[in-house]
Amino acid sequence: MQPLTPLLLLALAGAGLSIAHAQDNAVNIYSARHYPTDEALYSEFTKATGIKVNRVDSDDAGILARLRAEGTASPADVILLVDASRLWRAEVDGLFLPIKSKVLDNAIPATLRAKPADNAGTAWFGLSTRARVVVFDKNKFKISDVDSYEKLADPKLKGQLCIRSGSHPYNLSLFGSMTEHLGAQKTETWLKGLVDNMARSPKGGDTDQIKGVAAGECGVAITNSYYLARLMRSSNPADRDVAEKVGVVFSNQSSWGTHMNIAGGAVAKNAKNVNNAIKFLEYLASPAAQNHFANGNNEWPAAKGVSFDNPALKAMGGGNFKSDLIPVSVVGMNQIKVQQMLDRVGFK
Ligand code: FE
Repeated sequence: MQPLTPLLLLALAGAGLSIAHAQDNAVNIYSARHYPTDEALYSEFTKATGIKVNRVDSDDAGILARLRAEGTASPADVILLVDASRLWRAEVDGLFLPIKSKVLDNAIPATLRAKPADNAGTAWFGLSTRARVVVFDKNKFKISDVDSYEKLADPKLKGQLCIRSGSHPYNLSLFGSMTEHLGAQKTETWLKGLVDNMARSPKGGDTDQIKGVAAGECGVAITNSYYLARLMRSSNPADRDVAEKVGVVFSNQSSWGTHMNIAGGAVAKNAKNVNNAIKFLEYLASPAAQNHFANGNNEWPAAKGVSFDNPALKAMGGGNFKSDLIPVSVVGMNQIKVQQMLDRVGFK
């Protein structure tokens, strides 16, 4: 066997993504969508277009760090992120290539995409939405005890709250919106109240918080809606049992509405397969793909007028709730402020 050449070693180091050249009819995707049901989406796209999908999976922060490090040499064509303020941050940092697409403009409401700067194209498009809801122990609490985010800091919930790390993007975005609604000072007091009410130090993902409520370890928790829907629709009876034990509340219906986050996509600044990248994003906004987000991952479609049939989403009210319409960019801008507050109040 021949010794490995430096070039071959370099190629091996890049394994995980076979870098496609423009003539290869492929599209290279960096994806933070950690949902196994998305596999079918990618293969459907290849079947329909003949364009091969190469994918690198990481979390939002990992993808953005990688893009920055790779610079103009980056093989990434499409970026999929699962948090609105990360999309906004990447746009501000110039990591996206603004594009013009009638298909995307027609499909995705203006509130769910980047604001184009004078005729420059749109930097990113929301592709699905998720609500940050409250789940609670129906034996311990009534809906009216926990029907706003503010109430989760009430001293009567002392020792009851389960929540994942404050620095996780899902929470940073929620807290960024609270900062906008309540002001920084009241938000910091509220965050301190959440810390005082914790049943345990933050650990695990959203599903672990729901399970904590079902197991009686906590009385109330915060989760993205699709994690609860996933348990409701699980083929495992133990999961369905967990979902059955908890109540769910869409917060703040009598004030500004439930905090929503989006998952979205963009073309990478240094994309080599720009046309394929646009085709892929347009495909994700198509009724079939949007339906997949609803039925496969229990998210609400971002595209207008897409009908879907998901029993769990129906059981959660079918989307008939008031959602917070605060602009994504505002939530993003509050992130540094929020992280400083978390440090001061000891929210891990
Ligand atoms: Fe998630």
